[in-house]
Amino acid sequence: MSNIRSFPKGGLHPPGRKHISASSAIRNALLPSLCKVPLTQHIGAPCECLVAPGDEVKEGMLLGKSKGFISANIHSPMPGVVKSLDELYLPNGSRCQAVTIESVGEFDRLGKRQEPVDWSGLSSKDLLEKIALLGIVGLGGAAFPTHVKFSIPRDKKVYTFVVNGVECEPYLTADYRIMLEKTKEIFEGIRIIAKILEPERICIGIEINKPDAIEIMTAAAANSGLPVEVVPLQIKYPQGDEKQLLKAIINREVPSGGLPIDIGAVVSNIGTVFAIYEAVVFEKPLIERIVTVTGGGIKNPSNLKVRIGTPIQNLLDECGGFTEEPAKIVVGGPMMGFTIYNLDTPVVKGTSGVLVLTRKEVKTAARTSCIHCGRCVKVCPMGLNPTRLAKQIDHLEYGEAEGEGLMDCKECGCCAYACPAQIPLVQSMKLGKLMLRKMKVKS
Ligand code: SF4
Ligand code: SF4
Repeated sequence: MSNIRSFPKGGLHPPGRKHISASSAIRNALLPSLCKVPLTQHIGAPCECLVAPGDEVKEGMLLGKSKGFISANIHSPMPGVVKSLDELYLPNGSRCQAVTIESVGEFDRLGKRQEPVDWSGLSSKDLLEKIALLGIVGLGGAAFPTHVKFSIPRDKKVYTFVVNGVECEPYLTADYRIMLEKTKEIFEGIRIIAKILEPERICIGIEINKPDAIEIMTAAAANSGLPVEVVPLQIKYPQGDEKQLLKAIINREVPSGGLPIDIGAVVSNIGTVFAIYEAVVFEKPLIERIVTVTGGGIKNPSNLKVRIGTPIQNLLDECGGFTEEPAKIVVGGPMMGFTIYNLDTPVVKGTSGVLVLTRKEVKTAARTSCIHCGRCVKVCPMGLNPTRLAKQIDHLEYGEAEGEGLMDCKECGCCAYACPAQIPLVQSMKLGKLMLRKMKVKS
């Protein structure tokens, strides 16, 4: 494989552990008898609830209507009756309203399409409206509403559209399986996006730890009739971050506080491209997603197609339960994910994985004092000084931390991972950023 690219600054190589679930073909998870559907599953404004306890709902029915420009519709993942409206905590610690649905009745999605739609006659505006209506958000973790990302300001142009097939977080294999099993659908999704964005060039970035995905996607690209190039990337975390990915692929830097469109680029995750395909071709709302259930502590690691709102406990049961008492259960990847304590926590649009980690797989050493080794500085892909930022945040010097680039922190976790003193640096960064945002809202 020639011309393997990467980003130049920082990054590290945590053990991949993808072999645990990589060979598990995607299968449909069992339908839950009860699901909890949060009304905030995206970046932006929460949805307005359209249902009340006692209401009957059908699969795909609108439960929450997007409020404001940056927001995304939320649909019922299954038919049933609304049991209650509750408040719940999401894995990231935020609190929101959720609709609890008890499964009842026939399983017919509203207007469910069996035959594919011929979308070739639809305009770019029609396609964008469909994506907005069907609640598509970025499935790489950030859950940014896709119709907003694809609404390009008049004074900007998309030169490069990048499909993110990197999946650089250890353990996760959902995107890898989608590339192997849904190749044709991915390329139709790319065709739809190309119609909306009209890019001059399309690149698919894939790390070289997925050689079969690179091979299959390269062959499909050659036959697609689209200006698509598969770009093999070095195995390095966080290669899948938008900024690092663009630096690796088009050798341009997104300016501080800016967006990829500022350098003429748009990036979408592989799972998002598949969701766009399903939305446009089968008019399917985003009511399920692929979730990797893995780790040394789960009996049958799997890649499951899961209804949004399904309790994590159901997935653990379906994968055979624990091999031993887990040390930690993490939602997302091990670098950026969140430890959960309540197994009733539901799968949401941004849930890429559930990791059941044993004692051997987690750091257990106690925190000590900083030894000024500089490792956190060396691995930071954003060129920040995490140890200094953490001290400023500890001393409530938020303004100084902002001046040193705190808001550029991607919360990738490289600094905390590399720190021999086990200082929770990324947690400090998250706290500092939260405090700065709060201060800005008040002023
Ligand atoms: S979490 Fe932030 S400060 Fe730490 S390495 Fe990543 S970008 Fe740098
Ligand atoms: S890696 Fe940890 S011990 Fe080393 S300088 Fe950074 S904070 Fe200090």
